[in-house]
Amino acid sequence: MKLAFIGLGAMGFPMARHLAKQHEVTVWNRTAEKAERHAREHGSHAARDLAECAAADVMLTILPTSREVDQIVDALLPSLRRGTLWIDATSGDPNVSRETAKRLAAKGVAFVDAPVTGATVGAENATLTIMVGGSADDFARAEPILRVCGKTIIHAGPVGAGHAIKVLTNSIMGATVWITSECLLLAKQFGIDLKTALAVTNAGSGRSNASENLLPMRLIEGKWPLVFKLAHHDKDIRIAASISHQQHASTPMLALTQHLFTAALHQLGDQADYIEVARIIALMNGTQWS
Ligand code: NDP
Repeated sequence: MKLAFIGLGAMGFPMARHLAKQHEVTVWNRTAEKAERHAREHGSHAARDLAECAAADVMLTILPTSREVDQIVDALLPSLRRGTLWIDATSGDPNVSRETAKRLAAKGVAFVDAPVTGATVGAENATLTIMVGGSADDFARAEPILRVCGKTIIHAGPVGAGHAIKVLTNSIMGATVWITSECLLLAKQFGIDLKTALAVTNAGSGRSNASENLLPMRLIEGKWPLVFKLAHHDKDIRIAASISHQQHASTPMLALTQHLFTAALHQLGDQADYIEVARIIALMNGTQWS
């Protein structure tokens, strides 16, 4: 089977590496050097130009937002073949992906949204969880391909359902990171050692992925790696807020989380990691973590 993989970022690069071990994979990236390096190091084929990707049986995209995906769809639409399957692993907007699916369907091209969770470490180790929106038939076609990059592949519902549940679950994580950081800072200000505060949290009811895995490295060891851009996280929470608006729902905690993350993004800039919101919480209190 011929695959075209578009978007060799922090997630896409390792995902395409796994796929290239089992399939004939053509890679394309806006910055061409990354595609050339992928081809050199992982046995994929670097496309001469984007148009070359249209010859594939399966297209895979993982780009910042649905806007960039749509630009690629626009560019390739005239040359796509009937029967092609388009898998979009971007954390995108479910409403945009429904429209994209309709445009592709008019050309006989199937579409599933298949965003991923599990961070760069999950992409490196092929242990991602992947939530898929699409018909049962299209899910059945996509599943064996996605299984090469992930461990848990879940059919979430029709087109858009994958994108919707992805941004909702990321919003849960965002709110958890924020409240956990606030309470840990308060513990520190009260005079409790941060390691002790984390030990109690992780042995008790406040335990979460944030307290167990994300915060200790940053707050205790002072290591702040860039693994997931705050800009992407802010985008996800804003999409979740737009779903709430669309459903005429009352979700004040989600609204607050969105405002806090957007404010943090304005302070920290495009290249900040999402856990750096903890720095903003310290700044809001006129202090630092260490
Ligand atoms: P990166 O910022 O690392 O990579 C983005 C990719 O998109 C790069 O290949 C970049 O190309 C390409 N790109 C950006 N703008 C354009 C454009 N206008 N046209 C064509 N290509 C473009 O992002 P990630 O890999 O971290 O994230 C990708 C998606 O996965 C996002 O939706 C994110 O929310 C989601 N995600 C990320 C996770 C993470 O931990 N990083 C975890 C789960 C989901 P170039 O190399 O030229 O810049």
